[in-house]
Amino acid sequence: IAKQVAPGSHVFFNQEMADEIQERLRISNDLQQALANNELTLYFQPQQRVSDNKPVGVEALLRWLPPGKTPIPPGVFIPVAEETSLICDIGNWVLLEACSSFDRWQQAGIKVGSLSVNISARQFHSAGFIAHLSLLLQQYPSCRQHLILEVTEGVFLENLTESRSRMAQIKTLGVNISIDDFGTGYSSFAYLRELPVDELKLDRSFIQYIDQRPQDKAIIACLLNLARTLNMDVVAEGIETQQQLATLSELNCPSYQGYLRARPMPEAELIEWLKPL
Ligand code: C2E
Ligand code: MG
Ligand code: MG
Ligand code: MG
Repeated sequence: IAKQVAPGSHVFFNQEMADEIQERLRISNDLQQALANNELTLYFQPQQRVSDNKPVGVEALLRWLPPGKTPIPPGVFIPVAEETSLICDIGNWVLLEACSSFDRWQQAGIKVGSLSVNISARQFHSAGFIAHLSLLLQQYPSCRQHLILEVTEGVFLENLTESRSRMAQIKTLGVNISIDDFGTGYSSFAYLRELPVDELKLDRSFIQYIDQRPQDKAIIACLLNLARTLNMDVVAEGIETQQQLATLSELNCPSYQGYLRARPMPEAELIEWLKPL
């Protein structure tokens, strides 16, 4: 029997919530299928040295390309996957795919420098993560000393002691650790002192107005000094203009990544892009 409910904000709110849950459930189911049906693929975005534009690495970025439909951006499906253990399956697939690509490039004599892979908090803390990583590096030893795991500050929020021991294990495997979107999360300088961090990725939101807002430029200059002092590498994210690059050069930022030089691209395009003129 359908309940007769007078129209009101209360009912409307509940319907909206139900729709939202329904939508997330749909994405989650479709995503599971997508993983099984090979609809997921990796794009790669080059990273370059600020001083001379030498390519120094690539970041693997996940793409969902459902056949005959418009691509679904990671900003939409990653948060849904992160609600369940699906993110671990996807994340492990990403690691495997990225390492096998990198190994192929090494075999072909193509120098790409480092290989950065994004790791979700849930995946980082999952029981099988270190074992998976260890097996993967046995399968693809060429990735050792080249692989960089990008984690966000959220990873360290829950349990600093546990995070530290995990990171130590990761370092033992010859894998480096980068803090992604640095400065946007619950930044605490305490963890930089406590954890074996190798690299900071300065978030695009600080770079975007670096030439308009003196405050932003001051923050970037300060973070660059900090990283230098702590012996950490730095990659500035989201460089779109020549002026932004010039400012980063003035501030002695080591490397950058952004649409100015290259968007994330399929493997075949990356190989072409990397070919010397
Ligand atoms: P992220 O790791 O911070 O990646 C950088 C994002 O900035 C990418 O978006 C990249 O395409 C974009 N970007 C790079 N240069 C520029 C620029 O000059 N201008 C602008 N406007 N954007 C630029 P994308 O590929 O859409 O990925 C979004 C986020 O999704 C990533 O942010 C990351 O948090 C997540 N993500 C992507 N792939 C994976 C993955 O394999 N695993 C996990 N856990 N997360 C992933
Ligand atoms: Mg990243
Ligand atoms: Mg980032
Ligand atoms: Mg970012």
